[in-house]
Amino acid sequence: MFGATILVAGCGNSGDSAHIATPATTPAVSDQTDDAPAPAPGTQPRVTILATGGTIAGKANDNSAVGYTAGEASAQDLIDAVPGLDKIATLHAEQIANIGSQDMNDEVWLKLADRINQLFTDNAADGVVITHGTDTIEETAFFLDHVVASDKPVVLVGSMRPSTALSADGPANLRSAVQVAAARDARNRGALVVLNDTIHTARDVTKTNTTSVQTFVSPNAGPEGFVDAAAVRFTKPAARQARAHFQVPGSAPMPRVDIVYSHAGMNADQVHDAIGHGAKGIVLAGVGDGNTSEEVVDALSDAAHHGVVVVRSSRVGSGTTVRNAEVNDDQLGTVSALDLNPAKARVLTQLLLVNNITDAGQVQQQFAAR
Ligand code: GLU
Repeated sequence: MFGATILVAGCGNSGDSAHIATPATTPAVSDQTDDAPAPAPGTQPRVTILATGGTIAGKANDNSAVGYTAGEASAQDLIDAVPGLDKIATLHAEQIANIGSQDMNDEVWLKLADRINQLFTDNAADGVVITHGTDTIEETAFFLDHVVASDKPVVLVGSMRPSTALSADGPANLRSAVQVAAARDARNRGALVVLNDTIHTARDVTKTNTTSVQTFVSPNAGPEGFVDAAAVRFTKPAARQARAHFQVPGSAPMPRVDIVYSHAGMNADQVHDAIGHGAKGIVLAGVGDGNTSEEVVDALSDAAHHGVVVVRSSRVGSGTTVRNAEVNDDQLGTVSALDLNPAKARVLTQLLLVNNITDAGQVQQQFAAR
């Protein structure tokens, strides 16, 4: 079902995060570095906008005072709503999908990864902006963070208000995102999410409010920087080296990984159900430090000892799920998600399964690699 299943290395910061899982069946995409030709002096950076839908492309519907439909406006409509955007970068727009991000899926992810890698391999863009619904923007950003084989900026942007709303935030957010994608200092930071004048990394960012324009935060690390009308201002240094990236399958779906949400009075039915439906991985959205009831712990341990990759994360929303603290991972055969929330832990588990990395020790190493 899958194409290449090799994890290739742009070498992570530790320099040891490269693992060849199986022989490659298609050539790995080579990394681009700062040696890639910069735009000629006097010319603008080239930014490609890949539109996928979401509220930023949403329009009000007639039959509700508060209702709207996500994914209605085209990529060109979005550009047209931002006067002067073409003064920041030479723009090219493509419509990849037009969906609410609650419907985001492996197929669109693979399409995005393919298109972005192609654009950078061909040196057809200096940066990419992806317009996206905010509900799952952090998952798409995290996925692209691990599969784009270039140090050039990949910037995801959305809005909390539809394009037809009073004080729609989409146009300003799109302007900020293009500024970031056009900024040379945005290289080597992985995929970024930009909303409400703030820049976040894919690993750290999460949505925290259902409707407020100030919804995205990086609870464990703080923002990566800020954007104003004049400049993009990063508050942290970029990584010195290109990042490791994974090969992706040739076609969807990726292996099934389910999230099991823990709560008081929890039985093991969700775990058995996941396995019964063919899950190759299970992520626990645990209580507190990634914990759950005795019955569920037993079921998860049983699954782990029968080849299912079991990762403990937390439903709390911030902090680190600590290995071998409240729960003995060594004994149970489980992995701790560390600072990754359940949704992102699910994406990483899928990518590891694609690349045949299933040993709990190796999986743990990959969760620790930033
Ligand atoms: N549920 C929609 C989506 O994620 C709207 C949310 C948004 O874009 O802000 O696309």
